[in-house]
Amino acid sequence: MSRREALIITFIAALVAIAVPTSLALYFAQRESLRLETDRAMAYARDVLHRSESTADQIDAATRELAAAGGSTPCSDANVALMRRFDLASSYIQAVGYVSDNRFLCSSLGSEVIGLDLGPVDLIQPSGVKLRTRVEFPFAKGTTFLVVERDGYAAIINKRLPIDTTTDASDITLATLSGASIQKVLAGRGYMKAEWLETIRGHHALAFVDDNHVVAAVTSSRYAIGALAALPTTHLTRHVRAIAALLVPVGVLAGMILALVVVKVTRTQFAMPAMLKSALAHDEFFLVYQPVVDLRTGRWVGAEALIRWRRPGGDMVSPDHFIPVAERAGLIGRITARVIDLVAREASDLFVSHPDFHIAINLAASDLTSRTIIDLLLGLARKVSGTPRNLIVEVTERSLIDTEAVRELIRELRAAGIHVAIDDFGTGYSSLSYVETFAFDFLKIDKSFVDKIGTKAVTSHVVSHIIEMAKDLKLEMVAEGIETQVQAHYLQAHGVAYGQGWLFAEAMPLEQLRDQLNGMAMREGGANIPG
Ligand code: MN
Repeated sequence: MSRREALIITFIAALVAIAVPTSLALYFAQRESLRLETDRAMAYARDVLHRSESTADQIDAATRELAAAGGSTPCSDANVALMRRFDLASSYIQAVGYVSDNRFLCSSLGSEVIGLDLGPVDLIQPSGVKLRTRVEFPFAKGTTFLVVERDGYAAIINKRLPIDTTTDASDITLATLSGASIQKVLAGRGYMKAEWLETIRGHHALAFVDDNHVVAAVTSSRYAIGALAALPTTHLTRHVRAIAALLVPVGVLAGMILALVVVKVTRTQFAMPAMLKSALAHDEFFLVYQPVVDLRTGRWVGAEALIRWRRPGGDMVSPDHFIPVAERAGLIGRITARVIDLVAREASDLFVSHPDFHIAINLAASDLTSRTIIDLLLGLARKVSGTPRNLIVEVTERSLIDTEAVRELIRELRAAGIHVAIDDFGTGYSSLSYVETFAFDFLKIDKSFVDKIGTKAVTSHVVSHIIEMAKDLKLEMVAEGIETQVQAHYLQAHGVAYGQGWLFAEAMPLEQLRDQLNGMAMREGGANIPG
């Protein structure tokens, strides 16, 4: 992946990181305000229905009682008096009368309306109740009344009453509906679309969005009446804005944090090669040496040189972190060269006093692709007044690329007198027969297998198989990461000659290693002095 591609991907990732939480916030804001608006429209519809049902209840009670009391003389003085009582007592009924041939014979309004023509019935309910939906009276011009007639008794209703709910929204649609399929608007206000009445047919309660309105409708379970309310979606938009004003900043903030993390991680990844080059230029790498011990005698026979990186601020960067980056960035050759260089600087004359001691140097896969490494190592042997025999190179199982060139290079290293060890053995996937095709001197048993010695872990037996393999291949063994006497005894008893680990010594600077070696040599020498 090129830097440009990575920048584009980072940019897209950052955009997604901001866009996703923000759109989610907006989506939930939208959903929540739609729910709120639907609830509001439904509440209005139920309120209108409730008023309409109460009206119907009052008409029902009045007409039944008048019919029962009036009997064959509906316009008796007593019955007209009863009409007046209903008139006053009912909250929705304006007046009551008796109708024959579309004309009032008597009513609670007195003689004024007697003989007044109400016009024909324009709607008959399934219950037999007759409705005149647009009646005007000469004494109340400009107001349209609803006249509900049953068994000749008629109630006069102000049509606006059921829809006269208190609301601060002037653009709200309210309607009372009637008829066998609840499709006739008895009274209404606001914008109304004919198709809405089709949509709600057959539903007891229904809410939907259409034509920029949130529509809710309910029908009565007792009468052939219903109610509808509609709110323009402009209210919805206002709600969304209000909720979005709360949620979107949270989404953007979350997105920005995500984006920053993405950018920072990517930048660190890209900054690393530059940091490595700078570290090489400014000598930020140093070495520590982990002693290799002869398990039989406890003598220190060698040490593995391990690279460390201390950044200018004092922060340590783990090799597990920077070595893979160096490999990908093509810088590992320079790192290996630096290790060799550092050993040459520090270990001068070490082999003069300790001619059998060895230093082990880790190589990467790409180090095995060029003869340069042999020249560097032979140069090192000269600089430290040693011989190639004082050097061991460690190559990991993973880095053993199956080419004749790599095999040839390993042969040449050995021919030059440098020992070769296979490192981290058992952690790769190569078979024994594959490893067999390379020529080695040492096999290093990985710490993960040493850890399992003496435990009940399923893999605890693996170490004995590795030991058997190494014996078959006639390789000397070095066990890594020995931490307990149990492990050391087990390994020695099974024929492992060498080991390294905290049990013996931690990795240390060369000066300390040299001091310890000299101290040991003096004690051994001292023991040889007779007397
Ligand atoms: Mn190693």
